[in-house]
Amino acid sequence: MAKWVLTFGDGRAEGRADMRDLLGGKGANLAEMANIGLPVPPGFTITSDVCTYFYANGKSYPEALDAQVKAGLEHVEKITGRRFGDAQNPLLVSVRSGSRASMPGMMDTILNLGLNDETVEGLAANADDRRFAYDSYRRFIQMYSNVVLGLEHHLFEDLLEQAKDRRGVVEDTELDVEDLGKLVAIYKAKVEKETGSPFPQAPLEQLWGAIGAVFSSWMNPRAITYRRLNAIPESWGTAVNVQAMVFGNMGETSATGVAFTRDPSTGEKTLYGEFLVNAQGEDVVAGIRTPQPITEAARIAGGVAAPSLEMRMPEVFREFVAVAERLERHYGDMQDLEFTVERGKLWMLQARNGKRTTKAALKVAVDLAAEGVLTREQAVLRIDPASLDQLLHPMIDPKAERKVIATGLPASPGAAQGEIVFSSEAAEAAVSGASGRSVILVRVETSPEDIHGMHVAAGILTTRGGMTSHAAVVARGMGKPCVSGAGALRIDEKGGTLTVAGRTYRAGDVITIDGSTGQVLDGPVAMVQPELSGDFNTLMGWADEISRMEVRANAETADDARAAREFGARGIGLCRTEHMFFDEDRIVAVREMILADDEAGRRKALAKLLPYQRSDFRELFRIMQGLPVTIRLLDPPLHEFLPHGDRAIAEVAEAMGVDAEKLKRRAEELHEFNPMLGFRGCRLAIAFPEIAEMQARAIFEAAIEAGRETGAPVHCEVMVPLIVARADFDFVKERIDAVARELEADGASLSYQVGTMIELPRAALRAGEIAESAEFFSFGTNDLTQTALGISRDDAAPFLSHYVAKGLLPADPFTTIDRDGVGELVAIGVERGRATQPKLKLGICGEHGGDPASIAFCEELGLDYVSCSPFRVPIARLAAAQAAIRNAARQKEPAD
Ligand code: PEP
Ligand code: MG
Repeated sequence: MAKWVLTFGDGRAEGRADMRDLLGGKGANLAEMANIGLPVPPGFTITSDVCTYFYANGKSYPEALDAQVKAGLEHVEKITGRRFGDAQNPLLVSVRSGSRASMPGMMDTILNLGLNDETVEGLAANADDRRFAYDSYRRFIQMYSNVVLGLEHHLFEDLLEQAKDRRGVVEDTELDVEDLGKLVAIYKAKVEKETGSPFPQAPLEQLWGAIGAVFSSWMNPRAITYRRLNAIPESWGTAVNVQAMVFGNMGETSATGVAFTRDPSTGEKTLYGEFLVNAQGEDVVAGIRTPQPITEAARIAGGVAAPSLEMRMPEVFREFVAVAERLERHYGDMQDLEFTVERGKLWMLQARNGKRTTKAALKVAVDLAAEGVLTREQAVLRIDPASLDQLLHPMIDPKAERKVIATGLPASPGAAQGEIVFSSEAAEAAVSGASGRSVILVRVETSPEDIHGMHVAAGILTTRGGMTSHAAVVARGMGKPCVSGAGALRIDEKGGTLTVAGRTYRAGDVITIDGSTGQVLDGPVAMVQPELSGDFNTLMGWADEISRMEVRANAETADDARAAREFGARGIGLCRTEHMFFDEDRIVAVREMILADDEAGRRKALAKLLPYQRSDFRELFRIMQGLPVTIRLLDPPLHEFLPHGDRAIAEVAEAMGVDAEKLKRRAEELHEFNPMLGFRGCRLAIAFPEIAEMQARAIFEAAIEAGRETGAPVHCEVMVPLIVARADFDFVKERIDAVARELEADGASLSYQVGTMIELPRAALRAGEIAESAEFFSFGTNDLTQTALGISRDDAAPFLSHYVAKGLLPADPFTTIDRDGVGELVAIGVERGRATQPKLKLGICGEHGGDPASIAFCEELGLDYVSCSPFRVPIARLAAAQAAIRNAARQKEPAD
């Protein structure tokens, strides 16, 4: 027969810690604590399978459940020596939800269940405290009526206030037993008036009502939203824990409290917690009374007059410290504990891994490894790579209130606040003043013309564009917070307004953006600044020892390259040369090159670009000091580079010495309908080989000069973008080799490889032939995603979010690689490439190279490196180590 109910208590349990899928986190940990002999009030857990059954069968229960719940109650009755519903010696229980993933405060809890007009007298006699019994009863009616009967909480709060007013008192505790007795009667009358039925007196009816309410709370709007935000599947369901009540409010020798085994904000090894004498758990969190510190040390440090638990109940304190240490060793992690002391006896109500800041997480992991509780591998697995972002960028103070006005895509992490500006010129003007104001550049979308504005802005907000749009890619490269594709915002550039949900913001109004969540917030919000600790370096060092893949950076400026090295990049995996022309004087030369209508014109522009390129490359080689540097030939999506507006056209016309009107016509001729699928990538070098030749010359000459200067030989990797076959690759490679031969003929010695991006489906499919002449592959999963799914990178935001929200795609495929589709193309590319050239060097340089889930996929495919924007390098290093550990463990598992 299916087992729907598992019991625990008295040093034994039918469940275990590793059964959290079935028992939920709380149930599994209660079972585990019982198993290791800790004092846990006895109880039973109704499994999450019942929740699944409940929703699959019109909110009904499996037939055998009734008998199993009864048996569970008998188990508790036997251990406690009390009986459920007994007038003399009543058993009271708590009913709590508990799902696989922690969902704090999202679902419901009921305490003191089993109280009625008769059992309240039994409780009074047993506790020798009538006031306590009636206070428990009125709390129970209040909680049950709210959670199970759906009555508003305030109905009862109002009645409680009226009772206090009648007595002329302020505190709940000032009501005496008479008052509470009357209040119970008033509460019951209210329930009957509101629901048409009397408050249920039969304990079993109460219990089933509570069980149903907990299962139903899995689908309450709070829980649904929390699951959506935390990617918790609905199918997991919740378990229900029914447990004997213990009372922290049975007088001065009773207490209740919460504690962390280490400080959750710093990770310091010190018991950190608070308690209240003569109180129930909810009083500690409700903030009505001020809880006292648990340890003397904390009491003294906090200058608190009220005694600590250590002073007030020294025996209990010693036992609690021993339990806390034991639990931490048992679970190998910092614990978050809830306990109650009932008349001098300690009871553990909950133990779970404690939530903590990233800084604390690093300290705890490194310390636990030093204490021999964890291996280094286990310590490395403990840190969520994405959480490292907290250390690298300023972020919104977790305690601050957020007034969210819109949500876009979390395009580049970190938070920033500043005055709204609608143009790059306005951004520069605001920032250049003596006061150096902080600005948020707000645009429909950005283009290379905005680079100077992006550079000075504290953050970037766009209303169009996806995770690989210009704004997103450039902001990530700069390490600047960016929210892209916030479609609910309406920008009126001319009027200088930003409108959302009927509210209008003007230039100069302050907003805050959170590039880690995609939120746009009203006004300034409190921030916390980044901080890299010694623990960070220790743990990252362990990660690097464990990793198989290397982590390189996507970087093209000296600042990016330096940041990349500081963050531990092992070279540059992608230098997007088109990004090196964003400075105003250079972009004119690039435009000149693009708009030239003959080779002579182009060569003239190229001659202007060559020295810039050469000195930039030389600088990159110098900073990278012998580490590999992959330089990609130009890949300028034309719409990002063509001049917009008369002023820009006039500038280029002047530089070229041609008529502005003629140039305008040429720009119009070059206009494309689908620029991301247009005249970009190697197509440029195929039409105009002199462009590739200039770039090859600049790269090789820079390598020679840097090698001479530093004495460290430079090995460069020249990369061809957007090829579809061996033929187009070879065409470009021949031009590059010819330049090298020419320089070698002049006595230079060069070490270089020519490889290619694999970023179009056809290239992935023909990887076998391409590997006959390409010396490395770098998977460009931005374009591969765009072309495999037929989704424009720049236009994805408005519809892609619907796919994700409706569960049609598990995640934004531009953020986390679509394993089944794009991933299969990468796998084909790997397999066919390596079939031709077993040692073919393989990397990834799409934005997925910085995404932990995608990095895990790269490890499974056996890539040699991932490359990502500099600020993601630490995340990628940690994710690469974790992927190596998990992949190795998987390979050891016996095949099915
Ligand atoms: C890619 O397509 O994945 C890539 C890295 O190139 P870009 O983003 O510059 O098109
Ligand atoms: Mg690309």
